[in-house]
Amino acid sequence: MRKHNFSAGPCTLPQEVLLKASQAVVDLDNSGLSLIEISHRSKAFVDIMENARALALELLGLEGKGYKALFLQGGASTQFLMVALNLLEKRAGYLDSGSWAAKAIKEAEIFDDVYKVATSKDANYNYIPKGYDIPEDYDYFHCTSNNTIFGTQMKEFPNAPIPMVCDMSSDIFSRTLDFTQFDIIYAGAQKNMGPAGTTLVVIKEDVLGRVSRKIPSMMDYKVHLDKGSMFNTPPVFAVYTSMLTLQWLKDLGGIAAIEKENEKKARLMYSEIDLNPLFKGFANKADRSLMNATFTLENENLKETFDTMLKEADVNGLNGHRSVGGYRASMYNALSLDSVKAVVEVMSELERKA
Ligand code: PLP
Repeated sequence: MRKHNFSAGPCTLPQEVLLKASQAVVDLDNSGLSLIEISHRSKAFVDIMENARALALELLGLEGKGYKALFLQGGASTQFLMVALNLLEKRAGYLDSGSWAAKAIKEAEIFDDVYKVATSKDANYNYIPKGYDIPEDYDYFHCTSNNTIFGTQMKEFPNAPIPMVCDMSSDIFSRTLDFTQFDIIYAGAQKNMGPAGTTLVVIKEDVLGRVSRKIPSMMDYKVHLDKGSMFNTPPVFAVYTSMLTLQWLKDLGGIAAIEKENEKKARLMYSEIDLNPLFKGFANKADRSLMNATFTLENENLKETFDTMLKEADVNGLNGHRSVGGYRASMYNALSLDSVKAVVEVMSELERKA
């Protein structure tokens, strides 16, 4: 039996994707060869890469709008650096809304004194800063759409007068947005897309070529674009599995369809957090994430009982990040409503017992 897997990433993936991916590792499409044995230059793999790139753009509604998709390596953390290398000439503005945003700022600061347009660090990042200005003469504005650790999510994006870059690692493909407002979107695969090992980078091509520095080849978006995301050997398993997940999402009806499911799951989870007196939500209500619900126990003495009950109910990965403590229910696209019901049931049972 599959456990109810609330891990923050790597995390649960659709079972049919896991079955197809594991079959492909043994024998890809009855070819007599394993996915991880064939050349990445073979037609079979080039088709997989092209399909994955096309599906990503199609799902985001960015086809034919000047965007290209890349599947790179090095995680979203490498994008913190690549974004700055490729776009930062004079100055950039960053929204400091969580630990990942702070890490992105740290990398950009290697090149320049980054301007924080706003920060919520004063309240341990439990809200999304609002009402800030973005200077018109900066090279770009960087934000994080969903703060995985703190469970906050940007519901609105500023009307930036400069290129906008967004780290969407933990909520990409989960909700409908006008994705054309962004010039670069990046996301590690290991939440809503596939296994760890590849990072989707979606780039509006005309945002490139504006910096004077020499960029090392592996760090240069243009090099990767010119080589069709095959400048070096791509992570074939991660790209293939991401392609399967994107196809799964398309077959379900795309982002608009999964968004409805995600809203149902989040509604159920947050209503239990709010109604059950034993628990307290961490994030500011208006900024609550549909992907990661963070909460604590009002009475720490109940922790052992609650943890044991979760284990008995086959719930995995509900522990919170050390910087928030308590619990975090990561409800990515592939997590079922039944899994949320299972946790909510345990929470109500605890209330009955206490
Ligand atoms: N950005 C966000 C919002 C994340 O949640 C994470 C990881 O959880 C990262 C960046 C870092 O991703 P990676 O481990 O792929 O470098």
